[in-house]
Amino acid sequence: MKHFKTLTMAATMSALAGMATAEERFITIGTGGQTGVYFVVGQSICRLVNRNTETTGLKCTAPSTGGSIANINAISAGDMDMGVAQSDWQFHAYNGTSEFEGKKVDKLRAVFSVHGEPFTVVARKDSGVDSFEALFGKRVNVGNPGSGQRATMDVVLAAMGKSTADFALASELKPAEQAAALGDNKVDAIVYTVGHPNGSIQEATSTVDAVLLPVTGEAIDKLVSENPYYAKAVIPGGMYAGTDSDVETFGVKATFVTSSDVADDVVYEVVKAVFDNFDRFKGLHPAFANLVEADMISDGLSAPLHPGAEKYYKERGWIQ
Ligand code: GLU
Repeated sequence: MKHFKTLTMAATMSALAGMATAEERFITIGTGGQTGVYFVVGQSICRLVNRNTETTGLKCTAPSTGGSIANINAISAGDMDMGVAQSDWQFHAYNGTSEFEGKKVDKLRAVFSVHGEPFTVVARKDSGVDSFEALFGKRVNVGNPGSGQRATMDVVLAAMGKSTADFALASELKPAEQAAALGDNKVDAIVYTVGHPNGSIQEATSTVDAVLLPVTGEAIDKLVSENPYYAKAVIPGGMYAGTDSDVETFGVKATFVTSSDVADDVVYEVVKAVFDNFDRFKGLHPAFANLVEADMISDGLSAPLHPGAEKYYKERGWIQ
């Protein structure tokens, strides 16, 4: 009985101490569609951050959003604190180029990069489409405005001297809707810049006979050689029904970004929650399995590192 009382007292004291020191602060992380990987990135980071709420006061939520461009815009407007964004759109937002011409996001800051995201095109087998070029004249879901894939698709089309007007239909369905649209024969193909394996492509390739298309050729080679944020990528054969051999394409990195307006200690605690529990984090999605810390703090980052992240990386001896 005496022992029980002592424990209760200790627990009460520590709860009171926690309340006294940690002021409650809410952070929001922008993700993507619920069938993608960004949603899991945000949810996983929040899960780790929220384990420390008692000491840090931080309460993290990661709602579904329109994707990369929507996240960067929300961070820029101060509506969200952090978000996931493709490396190409991090670059353009920070430099005020492409979609972000005249809308430079000076306060964008890099935190770390995550998994690779191959530019992925899936076509119904009965559409007869067997290459990217064969998509012209067909019905293609180019993605919702605000998504990374939609913006990157525009770049790919422009590099080929084409536009969405060259498709019989260019639909703008969200990732969560596109697999069903492919299955219901509302479109011949769907486009998604996304980590693998993921629920959306799994759903698409299991509801209808479908094949992943290679995205290669001169225009793609030029995009990759001229831009640091693009790289050649391969989607391993056997990952999805209907595609047994490796599929060559190009890709970007998923990156985690924030704003210079977000306090250093907040970013520090978020980064610490991820890297202090890195094995646990890697176990939260198969696309995270091969992540390596050294790559994550350099690859695909073009905006300056946020000082809160830098502080943690210095403490770990990862940077000078
Ligand atoms: N790359 C996509 C985008 O920027 C999101 C992919 C995902 O949700 O995993 O919108």
